[in-house]
Amino acid sequence: MTELIRARAFLLPALTVAVALLDLPGRGATLARFEYVEPHMGTKFRIVLYAPDEATADRAARRAFDRIEELNHIMSDYLATSELARLSRNSGGPPVKVSEDLFRVLAESQNIARRSDGAFDITVGPIVKRWRRARRRHALPDHESIANALEKVGYENLVLNPRGRTAHLMKPGMELDLGAVGKGYADDEVLKVLAGFGIRRVLVAGGGDIAVGDPPPGRKGWLVAVEPLNLAPRAPVRTVLLHRAAISTSGDSEQHLEIGGVRYSHVIDPRTGLALTGYRSVTVVARRGILADGLATAASVLGSEDGLKLIRRFSGAGIFYVEERPSGMVTREARFPRFLRLNSPTPSAPTATIRKSDLRAR
Ligand code: ADP
Ligand code: MG
Repeated sequence: MTELIRARAFLLPALTVAVALLDLPGRGATLARFEYVEPHMGTKFRIVLYAPDEATADRAARRAFDRIEELNHIMSDYLATSELARLSRNSGGPPVKVSEDLFRVLAESQNIARRSDGAFDITVGPIVKRWRRARRRHALPDHESIANALEKVGYENLVLNPRGRTAHLMKPGMELDLGAVGKGYADDEVLKVLAGFGIRRVLVAGGGDIAVGDPPPGRKGWLVAVEPLNLAPRAPVRTVLLHRAAISTSGDSEQHLEIGGVRYSHVIDPRTGLALTGYRSVTVVARRGILADGLATAASVLGSEDGLKLIRRFSGAGIFYVEERPSGMVTREARFPRFLRLNSPTPSAPTATIRKSDLRAR
């Protein structure tokens, strides 16, 4: 039996442990399957791992969740005390020395920003805040406030210096937002923490951002089903078999604003300050979680043509792009691993179902 994880669905309540014993014929060692779920970073993180015993599994999972929480205190734009928030408050001032984690995430983000020609841009904070307020008030932000916010946006105004490990926000009022890469990076770090315990057969899912290590015993990989949620029922479901890779979906069914029949996404085009409109679900497979996460957002902004071009320039990356247009459903893909095409995954197979509405506590 294959293991099927739906990319956007959780059934389990917080902190549950499900154990299934699995024999490894002819190898002598027996690994058991353990599963943990905890809320972090405004979503649920789920870890599925194979370990020799429960005590080791519990200890390793605890460390992994603690690491996610530590990263949240570094990267959150919701916590006024986070390292990121402190850095933003210093915008317009001198360069600031930052932690290794933050530097790594900033550097990777700047790389995606350059290569996507600014479609991906972590300095988009001031605009994101306007659109968050718009969602709360259920009213579109006015033109002037968007124009004002746009003046503080631009990845060229974030200058990193690897020597002193500093970040320099050149303009006052700049605000960084790592919402599009933070979960992917946290997934990567979870794999590292667990490897420190000798645990490598792992799947970690932070909402719709998933990273996997080695496959479950006796299998070729982890089976992940990509379901473009809330699109028309005829929207395709793609399943992929992954090991040592990451997969992320951008295109939110939950965090959006609907006014006058138009659906505004929580993903912004930093070049116009406007939220993306319409239904779209962009899934990227990459070697690391931070890349899958960031590139999925970047490709959403770029659209089907340029999005595919961007992904082709990253080795080991693939994309599955679905957009519903008035003229009909547009599905495009490049180097996306092909495993099975299922219209309705077998009901017995999924170990979990992520429903986006469960994910966002904010
Ligand atoms: P999700 O949070 O559903 O996984 P994403 O990974 O696409 O979705 O991240 C979206 C978040 O990234 C937004 O909520 C916002 O904080 C931030 N963001 C929005 N637009 C951009 C952009 N163009 N570049 C970088 N970050 C963005
Ligand atoms: Mg993303």
